[in-house]
Amino acid sequence: MHPYIAKTLDTVQQRNHSEPIFLQAVSEVIKTLNPILEEHPEIEDLNLLERMCEPERQIIFRVVWRGDDGKVHTTRGFRIEFSSVLGPYKGGLRFQPVVNMGVMKFLGFEQVFKNSLTGLNIGGGKGGAEFEPYGKSDDEVMRFCQAFMSELYRHIGQQRDVPAGDMGVGAREIGYLFGQYKRLTNRYEMGVMTGKSVSWGGSLARIEATGYGVIYFTQEMLKLRGDSVEGKRVIVSGAGNVATYAMKKLTDLGAKVIACSDITGTLYHEDGIDVGVIKHLAEVERKHISAYCERHHDAVFHEGKKVWGVPCDMAFPCATQNELEGDDAKELVDNGLQLICEGANMPCTPEAIEVFREAGILYGPAKAANAGGVAVSALEMQQNAGLERWTFQQVDEELQRIMHRIFEQCADCANKYATPEDYMAGANIAGFLRVGQAMISHGLI
Ligand code: GLU
Repeated sequence: MHPYIAKTLDTVQQRNHSEPIFLQAVSEVIKTLNPILEEHPEIEDLNLLERMCEPERQIIFRVVWRGDDGKVHTTRGFRIEFSSVLGPYKGGLRFQPVVNMGVMKFLGFEQVFKNSLTGLNIGGGKGGAEFEPYGKSDDEVMRFCQAFMSELYRHIGQQRDVPAGDMGVGAREIGYLFGQYKRLTNRYEMGVMTGKSVSWGGSLARIEATGYGVIYFTQEMLKLRGDSVEGKRVIVSGAGNVATYAMKKLTDLGAKVIACSDITGTLYHEDGIDVGVIKHLAEVERKHISAYCERHHDAVFHEGKKVWGVPCDMAFPCATQNELEGDDAKELVDNGLQLICEGANMPCTPEAIEVFREAGILYGPAKAANAGGVAVSALEMQQNAGLERWTFQQVDEELQRIMHRIFEQCADCANKYATPEDYMAGANIAGFLRVGQAMISHGLI
């Protein structure tokens, strides 16, 4: 390891010792940057690595709201404005009880590189709150969103910081948040948030974008090996937007999705998962996937079980960070896995990635593979700024072009600086180079 990398890791470790998840994200990126340090001595001269590991601004705030039970709750809200070197801070809001500073910083850090890879003018940020929307009434969620925005509104703006959704934040929450922003600022600032409902400023294909993008990236990886997704047996973890639309695209392309999962367990359906039912459960009924078996009696639900034990050709972790560990990876490889592509942010642990690498499995890293969502968010901003409304096909075609460009950058950097098909190194290096060059242009700030 280059001594400058070791020194930076040490500093970041000391400064953030209570945030192991953030340290994991940082070390995953900077350990792959060895090959460019020789070629670019200015990285060390200007201390770019350490500067990149420190968010520009970290906002923590109190959110006070009244629940349906009449009780007053105090929740912690966050917004990490990680880097504005390529554009306004851009990234989602996550509402989940396990959200904390380390999680926010890891996601913000990843977002900087992901957004860089899109080639669009968006910086990186992330936010959220330790709040569980699942099982809450619409009214309760609305009161929470209003209380959350009562502080957040002073930090965001269409040229400043543009939040969107993430886990626990969908079109309903974005609507309540936007409504409160409009009330507080007395401005209909359409581009201040993305992931809006299509009827009032959202983009067609935004909801599909992350999941579809993951599959477009997968197609690119397979194409280079003269292969395709057709006829492959597939498993997917997660039952949110990313997983649902990844499953839909895979099914449309002739793959067979035989299992998926959520926090309650794994659903197995040998005939192929009926994505329409999963979508209805997630978006309309807001129910866990076990309810699927009420409609398909030949499907089996395994309570409390992870999906990784189901033998398959391709696996798509689309649920959450560190959901796929070293032992899961070994089981997948032993069962004949050929490809893994990440829909969630950092779903594979470093041990799991090592297992895939040693076995020569095609591995699509999240910051490249799941960049389609934020890319279409930028297209939403573009449509809002031009008072335009693109068709589904226009957005989808642009998404395919963007995913193709992302793949090419990863492949080129892998070939040039690492080894062919090392898309993890390729993504980190390509993402880093664009951010680094812009930082150098902006001087010491
Ligand atoms: N939360 C998504 C992500 O992880 C999307 C962010 C956005 O659209 O701004 O990339």
